[in-house]
Amino acid sequence: MAAELTHETLSRAPKVLLHDHLDGGLRPQTVIELADEVGYRGLPTTDPAELGRWFREAADSGSLERYLLTFAHTVAVMQRPETISRVARECALDLAADGVVYAEVRFAPELSTAEGLALDAVVEALQGGFAAGSAEAAAAGRPITVGTLLCAMRQADRWVEVAEAVVRHRDAGVVGFDLAGPEDGFPPDRIPEAIAVLDRAGAHRTIHAGEAAGIASIQAALDGARAQRLGHGVRIADEVPVDGPLGALAKRVLDEQVPLEIAPSSNVQTGAYPSLAAHPVERLHRLGFAVTVNTDNRLMSGVSGTSELADVAATHGWSWDDVQTVTERALAGAFADEAVRARLLADVVRPGYAELRR
Ligand SMILES: [Zn+2]
Repeated sequence: MAAELTHETLSRAPKVLLHDHLDGGLRPQTVIELADEVGYRGLPTTDPAELGRWFREAADSGSLERYLLTFAHTVAVMQRPETISRVARECALDLAADGVVYAEVRFAPELSTAEGLALDAVVEALQGGFAAGSAEAAAAGRPITVGTLLCAMRQADRWVEVAEAVVRHRDAGVVGFDLAGPEDGFPPDRIPEAIAVLDRAGAHRTIHAGEAAGIASIQAALDGARAQRLGHGVRIADEVPVDGPLGALAKRVLDEQVPLEIAPSSNVQTGAYPSLAAHPVERLHRLGFAVTVNTDNRLMSGVSGTSELADVAATHGWSWDDVQTVTERALAGAFADEAVRARLLADVVRPGYAELRR
């Protein structure tokens, strides 16, 4: 008799996250403590519960631009190596405590250079924090593997530097490149030299596309940036009618099984869809698209890997089959080495679900 699919059983299920922003996942208490430590006075409150609510409400405005403004506070306290490391360490611990066994966590290192840190110093602080958090989690019996994705901000011009940092740090846990920030007006092929740096090194990349912007942004991510995965990519559903044939790009994304890093709560918050019930995650999954379920910004959306799966499962009637499928798909789409993915699949993911489903 399989365990019932609940928040509690899902929290015990081994989970894989491909799309989680470090600066969108701080603990409210940590934001407050670090603001005090670095002398940042911009927070709306110093009560952790109130601050957590404030982030969710500010992010709930229905606009991607306003949603991104909430990051001014988290990034303000991430300007020193020790504060960046603390945030990264706590991220690894929080994900592990939620039952995540493999995560790719992303951050734009240029956001931590306002007080003079070099990109490399930011990356080293990140890696130190993830390593410390992963070691503590393993010692507590919750092992997790964390890979880092380095984002370049679309509206800025540091893409080449970030791409070079991805290549330089890839033996130290950096697994790939991403473009983050406003999609409109900043297409993923705007700075071809950065993409060429990745191409020459055979470096992985996932690109935010098909979130605020539509089909054209997905096309540009695939053709212009040679994205291996799509950050959200959910607007591919614009070419997936409820009844009728798929559009040409949707057919390609399906045929090539391009992983879609879908974060349903975040999409509802930014106004891409009015509700989880109206979100196309179910339709895409049912048609066999390589749907994965992600958190995006745990602090701003008030979610976890567990809660996101629980909400999708409850809204769309998902079974353990569905949950295991999106988990195995996410692992297959991960940028970690083949050996790491194979070990996690055989030793952690499959036995974990077998235990819950027997
Ligand atoms: Zn994102």
